[in-house]
Amino acid sequence: MEHRLGNPKNTIEVIQKYEFAFQKKFGQNFLIDTHVLEKIVSAAGVTKDDMVLEIGPGIGTMTQYLAEAARQVVAVEIDDNLIPILKDTLKEWDNVTVIHDDILKVDIRGLAEQYNEGRPIKVVANLPYYITTPIIMGLFEQNVPIDNITVMVQKEVADRMQVGPGSKDYGALSLAVQYYAQPYLVANVPPNCFIPRPNVGSAVIRLTRYPQPPVQVQDSALMFKLIRASFNQRRKTLQNGLNNSPDVPFSKEQIAAAIASLGLPEAVRGEKLTLEQFAGLANYFTEHCGGN
Ligand code: SAM
Repeated sequence: MEHRLGNPKNTIEVIQKYEFAFQKKFGQNFLIDTHVLEKIVSAAGVTKDDMVLEIGPGIGTMTQYLAEAARQVVAVEIDDNLIPILKDTLKEWDNVTVIHDDILKVDIRGLAEQYNEGRPIKVVANLPYYITTPIIMGLFEQNVPIDNITVMVQKEVADRMQVGPGSKDYGALSLAVQYYAQPYLVANVPPNCFIPRPNVGSAVIRLTRYPQPPVQVQDSALMFKLIRASFNQRRKTLQNGLNNSPDVPFSKEQIAAAIASLGLPEAVRGEKLTLEQFAGLANYFTEHCGGN
């Protein structure tokens, strides 16, 4: 009986039984490929010690796999119409709690306290693509205790999370993800693994949280302000990007001195800097310009 929703025939049956209408605004593309489902759960390394947070369980397809593998699954779903369906499809498992809410409003740290005594949790999801960045950044910035985040995202977003300077996909998301976690591409997933088919390619990415960030930065909030200011004006030089940003309170001279202190050319663009160099810039300002 277990895992029955991985089979497309059974998924279609549930959708018809409940006359479920897919809502585009919620990014609803349900997985119908058992290999992909197995690969996600295995890449996350879920064991019977783990609490897993699933974001957007849909009709409960991956939830069934997670319930088999984990000690406890907490699944947060926004769509009213899916709640009675989940009650039905997950009735065989007593280690699943469904929370009917918007993930962006949920106190996830509180859930880790309540269901995992504050120990690191695993986050596993086929994410609603329209809110990928706020979900991932929220998990990192709110200091949720996390072991890894293993998620299906738009292919292009998976690319952005992994690349360094020199790639057109490099940006604020790459730097934020790489400050907090080690990214690993688990698999590329074509549209025919979903119902309905998304009109973009997808990929599963695993982000393993670092116990300590890979760079030393005294004021990480300042570093992220510098990063955002640099990439907001991609075509401008780093000097101009930082000068023009209302969030960067340093003078033209201070900015020029900071750039020179890293041994970088005056006209360097922000997109050329590594995470280590952004950390160096932030540390320079903290040490020489009284922080922000
Ligand atoms: N996990 C299911 C699967 O793989 O078949 C469904 C994945 S579907 C891509 C995304 C799910 O996230 C949908 O069930 C959608 O209703 C839900 N969702 C969308 N926005 C949400 C939000 N803000 N909070 C919680 N769930 C949300």
